[in-house]
Amino acid sequence: MLCLGIESTAHTLGLGVVTERRVLENIKVSYTTTQGGIIPSRASDYLVAELPKLLARLKTPLHKIELIAFSQGPGIGHSLRIGAFLARAFAVKLKKPIIGVNHCVAHLEIGKLVTKAKDPVLLYTSGANTQVIAFQGGRYRIFGETLDMGVGNFLDAFGRELGLGFPAGPQIEQLALKGKHYVKLPYVVKGMDVSFGGLLTNLKQKLSKGDYSKEDLAYSVQETVFAMLLEVAERAMAHCNKQELLLGGGVACNKRLQEMARIMCRERNAELFVPANEFLVDNGAMIAYLGLVEYKKGRRMKLEDTIIRPDWRTDED
Ligand code: AMP
Ligand code: MG
Repeated sequence: MLCLGIESTAHTLGLGVVTERRVLENIKVSYTTTQGGIIPSRASDYLVAELPKLLARLKTPLHKIELIAFSQGPGIGHSLRIGAFLARAFAVKLKKPIIGVNHCVAHLEIGKLVTKAKDPVLLYTSGANTQVIAFQGGRYRIFGETLDMGVGNFLDAFGRELGLGFPAGPQIEQLALKGKHYVKLPYVVKGMDVSFGGLLTNLKQKLSKGDYSKEDLAYSVQETVFAMLLEVAERAMAHCNKQELLLGGGVACNKRLQEMARIMCRERNAELFVPANEFLVDNGAMIAYLGLVEYKKGRRMKLEDTIIRPDWRTDED
């Protein structure tokens, strides 16, 4: 069965085509800035403007598509509406079933498909979301999460203080490679959860004093927040008795995070799974794949149920 998936939770409009076993297509456009962060209305204007070009790049003939899946949430309302509208238009015109899926769960399922992980704990680190997720006791559960902003948004906000545009994460990774000294920063793990707000304030104070180089701060930020994330991920693995860690979300493209995750897994005889970057960042293939899995399990949706769910939590039906 061929499923077309549409991703549009924030900065990316992605189209993916999958079968039960493999990804056939995965194309996208992403909003970026040279200064400042995402302004929702500007990002969504950009996605609408890029839509015709993106559709023209899709190779699969539309008449072969048998199911339409889209990101129903969580995400930014402005962006979510574009994908939902496009999905409804396709479903009506092609007379095919439509299914809205949870973006966070999609990261977990595509990771399993492309890495062959069987029953992992997912450390999901994206712009807006930071969660430790596992399938346990018959449902997806969140074992730890951020209490304020997502780690990607935190890195992007720190990047703005350094004068960088969006997304700042990859640029911070490059700066960090040149860092020489570790600067002590607040390490905030509360039980199974993490928090970045206080750390951001602390960094702003350090930057305004000018005592530390950008490179040392970038390096120290990465060492601190990645250690926080891996501490809660490791505890979730121990609690769930799972021997696999899967990475997901744009921040997981970071090579230092991957390296630290590899060390943690090796020390506890667990296995680390890292999908290719195109499946770590927001993408249409993961939406298509989760839609297909859910459809095969019998989930059905009426057009009137396809209203977007910006606050949809991973552990809610
Ligand atoms: P997503 O929302 O999953 O598409 O991920 C976007 C987020 O990932 C943004 O906040 C980026 O700054 C962040 N990001 C992307 N690549 C990297 C990287 N190499 N290191 C750190 N953060 C990154
Ligand atoms: Mg994401």
